[in-house]
Amino acid sequence: MRKNIVAGNWKMNTTVPEGVQLAKEVCEAVSSAQGLKCDVIVGVPFTHLTAVRQVIDINKVGLAAQNCADHTSGAYTGEVSAAMVASTGANYVILGHSERRGYYNETPEMLKEKVDMALANGLKVIFCCGESLEERENGSFKEVIGGEIRDSLFHLTAEQMANIVIAYEPIWAIGTGKTATSDQAQEIHALIRGLLADKYGAQVADDTTILYGGSCKPSNAPELFAKPDIDGGLIGGASLKAADFMGIVTAF
Ligand code: PEP
Repeated sequence: MRKNIVAGNWKMNTTVPEGVQLAKEVCEAVSSAQGLKCDVIVGVPFTHLTAVRQVIDINKVGLAAQNCADHTSGAYTGEVSAAMVASTGANYVILGHSERRGYYNETPEMLKEKVDMALANGLKVIFCCGESLEERENGSFKEVIGGEIRDSLFHLTAEQMANIVIAYEPIWAIGTGKTATSDQAQEIHALIRGLLADKYGAQVADDTTILYGGSCKPSNAPELFAKPDIDGGLIGGASLKAADFMGIVTAF
């Protein structure tokens, strides 16, 4: 049975003290909530990982980095390896976010390496994919999304796929206030599950958690999460306030 997950992506927001405070608030709210139907993860800047790990109960709130290097170690100034991330006690890493693909030129080949590094170091991966507005409008979006998944994930074994969560994030919906309709999102989630079924079989496809991301908030989360192939959300802006984030966590 696949898990429902709501994961926050704080992006480049909060100082360390602010992040520690936010993480504490999220962990307290999760601990006192009754009957939650999803796992909760916070995706924090590298600088925050160790401090946040100390104030959360990792059994209640998972901890994700937002990137890792595509190399093991060595002369890569400014990079942070998957082993370094894992050594903080984090258990997830977000890879392939459209902001990293777009602003930092991350290619499918680099992402394939990053996925391998993450899995080799015991991290679970939240792998992002999604189309631009232009790709949605010119009709190439299904091919684009399929290509992103095939090119960076389909070298993995079925066993390794158990450590992959996929996040569908239409770029035109990220931080814009424009959410994909629940039908648009469901269509792509079903397409992704179909690709997984073709490659790995029905069991892996059924067991893989597929999140929606893009202007998800407490008001639209219930309708999105009610769709059969939407197993939760990757949340940007609305993850920066514990009350808003918990409004999404409790939407199932
Ligand atoms: C994101 O960047 O992963 C995201 C979904 O952002 P937002 O919720 O702000 O659209």
